[in-house]
Amino acid sequence: MNLIIFGPPGAGKGTQSNFIANKYKLFQLETGKILRNEVKNKTELGIKISSTMNEGSLVSDEIVSKLVEKFISNKKHKNKFIFDGYPRNIPQAENLNNLLNKYEQKAGLVLKLSVSLDIIKKRISGRSVCSICAKIYNEYFNPANNENHSCESKFLVKRSDDNEKTILKRYETYLKKTSPIIDYYKSLNLLYEIDGKTEIDQIFEKISHIIGSLET
Ligand code: AMP
Repeated sequence: MNLIIFGPPGAGKGTQSNFIANKYKLFQLETGKILRNEVKNKTELGIKISSTMNEGSLVSDEIVSKLVEKFISNKKHKNKFIFDGYPRNIPQAENLNNLLNKYEQKAGLVLKLSVSLDIIKKRISGRSVCSICAKIYNEYFNPANNENHSCESKFLVKRSDDNEKTILKRYETYLKKTSPIIDYYKSLNLLYEIDGKTEIDQIFEKISHIIGSLET
C-alpha cells in the first residue's frame, strides 16, 4: 500500500515516516531530504534551488515532479511508498494521482499530522539530525543520549532552514499552499487526521492502528 503523510513543518512527519517505513518495509520518499542533498552537493539543481529552500518557499512543481517520477517508475518500490513531503499543493496532489495511475499504483492512505504553531517553533528550534544514521532528535522532547544514539554527538547537525524566520515562512507556505490538499484527500475518502502534539510513541501507535485496520 502507498501512504502519504503531511502536516506543517515540525509536525513529526519525518520521525513518523521513519518508523512507518521500518515497520511496514516501505520506501520513504522524502522530497525535502533529496532536495537538501542536491544543495549540499552543490549540483546544478542544488545551486538553483538553494535560495528558495532557505527562504522557506516551495521549489517548482516541475522540478519536484521529475524527481518524484524517477522513484515512482522504479518497479522495485511499486505500491511500497511512503510519500513524506509530497504533495505540497493541489497541482502536486493531482500530479501524484496521475503518476500513480501511469505506473499502475494508487494511494491507500493519507495521514495528516496536526500541531499548533507554538509547538512547531519549539520542535524546529530544538531539532537536530544525525548526518551518519539520519535519526532525528530534539533537545526539548527527545534528546540524543547513549541509549538512543550510537553515533558521536558531533554528527548531530541543524538544518539551515530551521531558524525562527524561515520557520514562520514555512508555516505560512504550509497554510497557504499545502492545507488546501486536506479537502482534496477528504473528497477521495483517504484522509485520516492525527493529533501530532502527543508523544512520539503514542502517535505511532495510532498510525499503526489505522494501517492495521486497512490491511485486514
Ligand atoms: P521538508 O524537509 O519537507 O520540511 O522540506 C524542506 C524544504 O524543501 C521545503 O521548505 C521546500 O523548500 C522544499 N520541498 C520539499 N518538498 C517539496 C515539495 N513537494 N514541493 C516543493 N518544495 C519542496
